[in-house]
Amino acid sequence: MRVIQFLLFFLFSSHLLAVEQLLFSDKEKEYLASKQQITMCIDPDWLPFEAINAQGKHVGLSADFMEEYSKMMGIPIQLVPTKSWSESLHKAKARECDILSMLNESPERSAYLNFTAPYVTAAVALVSRSDVLFIDGLSALQGKVLAMPKNYIYEELIRRDYPLIQVVYTKNQKEAIKLVSSGKAYASIGTQISMLRDIQEVATTNVKVAGFTEYKSVLRVGVRKDDELLLSIFSKAVDNLPPQKTNQILQRWYSVTVQSKVDQTLLWQLLVVFFLISMIFVVRFRSIRQFNKILKEKNKQLERISQTDHLTGLFNRLKTDAVIKAEVARAERYGGSFCVMLFDIDHFKAVNDNCGHQIGDKVLIEISNLVRTNIRESDILGRWGGEEFMLVTPEMDISGAEKLANKLRLLVQDHIFPNQIDITVSFGVAEYKMGDSPDALLNTADKMLYKSKEAGRNRVTIS
Ligand code: GH3
Ligand code: MG
Ligand code: MG
Repeated sequence: MRVIQFLLFFLFSSHLLAVEQLLFSDKEKEYLASKQQITMCIDPDWLPFEAINAQGKHVGLSADFMEEYSKMMGIPIQLVPTKSWSESLHKAKARECDILSMLNESPERSAYLNFTAPYVTAAVALVSRSDVLFIDGLSALQGKVLAMPKNYIYEELIRRDYPLIQVVYTKNQKEAIKLVSSGKAYASIGTQISMLRDIQEVATTNVKVAGFTEYKSVLRVGVRKDDELLLSIFSKAVDNLPPQKTNQILQRWYSVTVQSKVDQTLLWQLLVVFFLISMIFVVRFRSIRQFNKILKEKNKQLERISQTDHLTGLFNRLKTDAVIKAEVARAERYGGSFCVMLFDIDHFKAVNDNCGHQIGDKVLIEISNLVRTNIRESDILGRWGGEEFMLVTPEMDISGAEKLANKLRLLVQDHIFPNQIDITVSFGVAEYKMGDSPDALLNTADKMLYKSKEAGRNRVTIS
């Protein structure tokens, strides 16, 4: 029974408790029991690494690590609130806090702190205005102004490695970024991950990570120099935190920082660009479509004008000629017959002479309308010359054409024209015969018309 109880306890009780039992020496356990709490200072404004939030709570990577360490030690790690990193360093020096949660080791700091092994490392980047193409490391900044928070590790490193860089100190990293954004500083230095986050927070769009330094931020727990036992406790805690725990914490904070707004800004920029391009296309497409519509309409008008006789609205000679050629080609290809009839107003010169040119025009228009309204839809009527007209009658043989011609002739003869002028017309009708050319056909019609005139006018002559 007791064995089972023990096994269940072993399986389900806190793994960390077991680690603690094994991890610390008796002396260390005794120390922790009597210590009751460990006091800690942090950087109050350095996310995602650490910060004090609006509720005064310790948040960020180091907060999660400290929670794990505290569980291992079995006593709380108490935050000593400060307003700046400089104040935290000052308090650590004055032994107002036992540890600094997360910082780089340096000779200056080693004067009053001992350090554990590193538990987080980060790349150190340079931030500049967006118009700076690329910064090829710190050596490119000689003689230029570099902004950075007071008492950050880079202060010591740059003084030692790059004394020619002009350094301007700020209260925190965001202030340094603002100096870069406004052009008062050429660049700023800091861990890439916190820089990205602060650029978002400051909400400037004209700065970017422009390069990297050879430095690495190697972050450790700093323990007051006069407490060797506490150093060994923290060293054991740092060394024995399971790697999967470390990964969990890193992933939680890095993913929050890297994803959130960076992607969104890019997305928004892409959306805006996409929208603008689409608008340009839509506007251009619309104006092109509009333009094409107008062009099409104008072309139609032009075509109509080029085929139409102004006075009568009938087809002009050019178009009528083309119609005859097309009919000849069609008859040649498919067989069938058609006729052409040329008709001419008799003694029209006298109409002009006696009644004037305007009345003459009216007569031309009335004859056009009279004939147009008394032929089939498939027949084609055109003005051939001054007072000469051409009628093309597809699918009609010579006897049909003769009948039609006589019908039209009588219609004209009986029609009452302006000024009661008597008007007659003479017809020359020709039937297409296989092998006829358009010219031959027209020639025949012309001859037939001449015959009608010769024979006394107001008559129809067929070929
Ligand atoms: P015919 O019976 O032999 O055809 O005699 P005609 O007088 O009709 O023939 P002619 O060729 O001698 O005269 C044709 C006349 O038609 C001359 C011209 O003034 C007139 N004419 C031609 N085009 C127009 C036009 O557009 N308007 C008017 N008012 N007259 C026109
Ligand atoms: Mg005439
Ligand atoms: Mg004539």
